[in-house]
Amino acid sequence: MKIICIGRNYLSHILELQNQKPKEPVLFLKPDTSILQKGQPFFIPHFTNDIHFEVEVLVKIKKIGKHIQAKFANKYYQEIGLGIDFTARELQTKLKDKGMPWEKAKAFDGSALIGEWINKSEVDNLYNLNFSLEKNGKEVQCSNTANMIWNIDELISYISKYFTLKIGDIIFTGTPSGVGPVSENDIYKGYLEGKELFNIKIK
Ligand code: ZN
Repeated sequence: MKIICIGRNYLSHILELQNQKPKEPVLFLKPDTSILQKGQPFFIPHFTNDIHFEVEVLVKIKKIGKHIQAKFANKYYQEIGLGIDFTARELQTKLKDKGMPWEKAKAFDGSALIGEWINKSEVDNLYNLNFSLEKNGKEVQCSNTANMIWNIDELISYISKYFTLKIGDIIFTGTPSGVGPVSENDIYKGYLEGKELFNIKIK
């Protein structure tokens, strides 16, 4: 399986990182080795001490597809979730400035936290879902899927022009504003529509 991540999908986060608003979605991949094993803490990797959290809504693909039209994209997923795209920010900035690929900063082991999944039939409206991230009991990120520049169906359509989507692939749909650095012993809890979907400790 593969993880497809979207960059710059919320205006608020584009502004906080002083990036340009893209004309098309920004895509990058994480390999399956980036998945943080269930129940494990996140270990700050040896090559940096500047790791940022980015809470994101996740979508799990349930059907193989290529060149999927947005109006049919809802047939390709049943479960949605919440996760963290852990990012070595300083390293990412260096790579970005040199026009080099981001993988070392975004796709390292453990960089993809995937929480519990919920069936999309359990929510009223996929385009109006509240989600948030708590750091040590205090809310640090909070948004709604209505604030996405490209919604889930548009993202699936766009991604599938380039990559065949396969069963079990996961899409990280981008982060809103409020990203920040993690510290040892932090506890992060993620909520989608008020439901806790993950609880992770930093080591
Ligand atoms: Zn991200």
